[in-house]
Amino acid sequence: MGSDVIQAKLVLLGDLGAGKTSIVESTIGAAFFSQVLCMDEATVKLDIWDTAGQERYHSLAPMYYRGAAAAVVVYDISSTDSYIRARKWVDELQRQGNPHLVMALVGNKVDLEEKRHVGTQEAMEYAERNGLFFIETSAKTSQNVTELFYELGKHHCDLS
Ligand code: GDP
Ligand code: MG
Repeated sequence: MGSDVIQAKLVLLGDLGAGKTSIVESTIGAAFFSQVLCMDEATVKLDIWDTAGQERYHSLAPMYYRGAAAAVVVYDISSTDSYIRARKWVDELQRQGNPHLVMALVGNKVDLEEKRHVGTQEAMEYAERNGLFFIETSAKTSQNVTELFYELGKHHCDLS
């Protein structure tokens, strides 16, 4: 049991409408907040940065993700476009981001299974090839949302 506190910036990226804000709000209830994850080794305090709609203009400044320890790239499983856009974000972060960035690819809106356009296997294999943590969530039913933040906190702890 340790009393160390690790501060980590976590950024959310992805198409407008993918569900970034809903994912964050389904855990705590604010668009910009901190979540504390208690581990055996240390406490990870996540400062979660959500966008204020700037993704609409494809103008998220590199400043937004500078210094981030973790990035959550969200797409909507019912939108192929949002998946393509998510992969572009992953590319950009791999080229420009912190080399130790812990990244998660998140297929959101799994409650809309009947409207699914992005296969689980396809996204999972892409994530594996690129060393990303992969999970499918629903901000609507809260499925896997806690697990997402828990896993990110854990990965960050492992790396510290
Ligand atoms: P953002 O632009 O990425 O922040 O997306 P929002 O969180 O604002 O969500 C966009 C729309 O998708 C809203 O109408 C949400 O209610 C809806 N939404 C978000 N997550 C889910 C989900 O998991 N399932 C369903 N069915 N709708 C969702
Ligand atoms: Mg939003």
